[in-house]
Amino acid sequence: MSGRLAFLRASEQEIAIKICWKNYHSPDSVEAAIELLNHYDGRAQVIGGGTDLLLEIQQGLRPPVEAMIDPARIAGLDRIILDDGHIVIGCTVTHSRIIEDERIIQHGTCLAESCGVIGGPQVRNVGTLAGNVAHALPAGDGTIGLLALDGEVEVADVSGSRWMPLQDAFLGPGKSAIDHHRALLTRLRFKPTGVLEGSAFFRVMRPQGVALPMIAMAARLQLDEQHHISSARISIGPAGPVPHLAEAAMEVLVHGPASREQFREASEAAVSGVSLRSSKYRATREYREEMIRSQLPDVLARASERAVNGSLAGLTEPQGAWQ
Ligand SMILES: Cc1cc2nc3c(=O)[nH]c(=O)nc-3n(C[C@H](O)[C@H](O)[C@H](O)COP(=O)(O)OP(=O)(O)OC[C@H]3O[C@@H](n4cnc5c(N)ncnc54)[C@H](O)[C@@H]3O)c2cc1C
Repeated sequence: MSGRLAFLRASEQEIAIKICWKNYHSPDSVEAAIELLNHYDGRAQVIGGGTDLLLEIQQGLRPPVEAMIDPARIAGLDRIILDDGHIVIGCTVTHSRIIEDERIIQHGTCLAESCGVIGGPQVRNVGTLAGNVAHALPAGDGTIGLLALDGEVEVADVSGSRWMPLQDAFLGPGKSAIDHHRALLTRLRFKPTGVLEGSAFFRVMRPQGVALPMIAMAARLQLDEQHHISSARISIGPAGPVPHLAEAAMEVLVHGPASREQFREASEAAVSGVSLRSSKYRATREYREEMIRSQLPDVLARASERAVNGSLAGLTEPQGAWQ
């Protein structure tokens, strides 16, 4: 029995195993994982925590697979390390580990905040950032946080291993450039925020009922000595088929002052640059636009305050945590 199914009840675990796969492999190296994927020639799938994948198979949204390839036993992929000027997160690192990591809290604050709103403690204890990214949903919370940090992903397949910008990993809603049947997302990385840099994340949810985000947003700002903005990244989701980089808003900010007025102007540009849909599960287009207009200035102000003070002002605590 895989520990990764621990969040299911015993009867559910039996059903999952019956319907989701025939063979379950836990290779001990990336090379062995790629060899297995190659051997199954499209009939195997990589599994992380299984929090998305198993439900989708059970609900008939994806066909069962002949084999699951679980990287959990591959040495080194369960670590968060500093390497070559980056914070590097292995693909089997769970959201719970990310939100407890002091380096990420301090130097990738929007990622810690975004992983902290995912599900509840049970989901975060098994779900991974790699799975969140590989699933390629336009509203994956960890994905939105990592996109604002200008993250990258490392992909391994038969042709070798390479890093690619995070935004290149998304082809459409649920469509990843990383073929889960033939490639392994091995690691994720971003450059830690330094002096005069800060980041922040915020998600608007219905207070009760359907657990779909209305809109989520994250920002990373770098200021100069005069507190003008020297670089800015803003991500928003769901706002189109892939996680959205609000380039028009980013342009408004760069070289301008880190002021409320500038943040409001950038938020207007962000609204003009997205085409939001009305959804009975999320909210109307107008309401969601208004949420960007009203909340993005606050997110930018928090990122800016963190850049100026080096503090973690207004840190969003993980949701649903036990007291
Ligand atoms: C109750 C509940 C609440 C949730 N709440 C949220 C939420 O608030 N916000 C949110 O963003 N998500 C939420 N999720 C979705 C899910 O938990 C996250 O997206 C999680 O990060 C997925 O990670 P995982 O490791 O479980 O991925 P899995 O389910 O194992 O895999 C997801 C997809 O990624 C692929 N994959 C996984 N790892 C790799 C890899 N290393 N290389 C290549 N492909 C890979 C799989 O083949 C599959 O296609 C929720 C899920 C549940 C069940």
